[in-house]
Amino acid sequence: MVGAADRCRELAEAIAQAAPPPMTIMEVCGTHSHAIARYGLSQLLPPQVRLVSGPGCPVCVTADEDLDAIVQIARQGAIIATFGDMVRVAGPRGSLADARAIGAQVQVLYSPMQSLQLAESNPERQVVLLGIGFETTTPAIAVTMAEAAARDLGNFSVYCAHKIIPPAMAVLAADPECGIDAFLCPGHVSTIIGSRAYEPLVRQFGTPCAIGGFAPTEILEAVYALVLQVTSGQPRVDNCYSRAVQPEGNPTALAAIADAFEPADALWRGVGLIPESGLQIADRYAHLDARSRFELEPALQRPIDGCLCGQVLQGKAVPTDCPAFGTTCTPQSPIGPCMVSSEGSCAAVYRYQTVR
Ligand code: SF4
Repeated sequence: MVGAADRCRELAEAIAQAAPPPMTIMEVCGTHSHAIARYGLSQLLPPQVRLVSGPGCPVCVTADEDLDAIVQIARQGAIIATFGDMVRVAGPRGSLADARAIGAQVQVLYSPMQSLQLAESNPERQVVLLGIGFETTTPAIAVTMAEAAARDLGNFSVYCAHKIIPPAMAVLAADPECGIDAFLCPGHVSTIIGSRAYEPLVRQFGTPCAIGGFAPTEILEAVYALVLQVTSGQPRVDNCYSRAVQPEGNPTALAAIADAFEPADALWRGVGLIPESGLQIADRYAHLDARSRFELEPALQRPIDGCLCGQVLQGKAVPTDCPAFGTTCTPQSPIGPCMVSSEGSCAAVYRYQTVR
């Protein structure tokens, strides 16, 4: 039986033997970014095959406008219910951690459903659940909203900043400055949206796609599939994670999303406004929309001096291109979101000390 290390070596050899031309493969998943850094997979590949991170970290791509609104809501006395990574990311008025230091209440959740218990046990307070993330986390937020409506919770709402991955991939595929030759498609997101979701991307841009799992062998299998697509000149969607991803995705999760949300334009950090790349709360749940429940001032504008996160998220720079990387910007003292979030590519490269 071939062990994982031997299989990785076999795949690396097969990739080299395929003699690919210079090519850049972008992964669009924070978990892939961490696995690539952790196992040093870039170093196993021939020099002409370059792996770059894209906008695969949901916290990292959250726009300053949303961070600003969330901090304003916290400062107005609402209890913010969120996953942990959002607490330390700073917007123009600081982070939720800063708001908490001056009295705001921020509750870190393990499950979105906990936010309903929070609302029920604090009937005199507004509780706002942050809807941040890609198609992977959206179904759980959708189900929580349906349950909140069923329980008729008047003090519960959702701040929705959910995003959809394929439209962002399309923008990057169309941008010659990004120089993307192929996409390593996200494993978790693909379990929800299915492999067919990438077919329009292949048709429109001719960009090869392969869905990969998270083990080093699974990632290298997807990279090998992409190399073969490029060398044969036959782009398609290869599902190299078929034990978890179906062509049609997860119909139950997709139905929950369709019940609670509808497509909307969305702002992405570094990329800007992308049409139909986000979600807004559907009319039937309009009473749960935090955006209309709170009076919000226009967002402050605040470029983060010297931070290359916007470039890193588009694959136009790698973390080590940033002069602040590892000097003034570290996970203990982060400057930009790519170093704050556990899924951020700067944090991954710093943690595992790998070069990409
Ligand atoms: S190292 Fe820090 S400052 Fe530089 S791009 Fe990454 S997060 Fe931004």
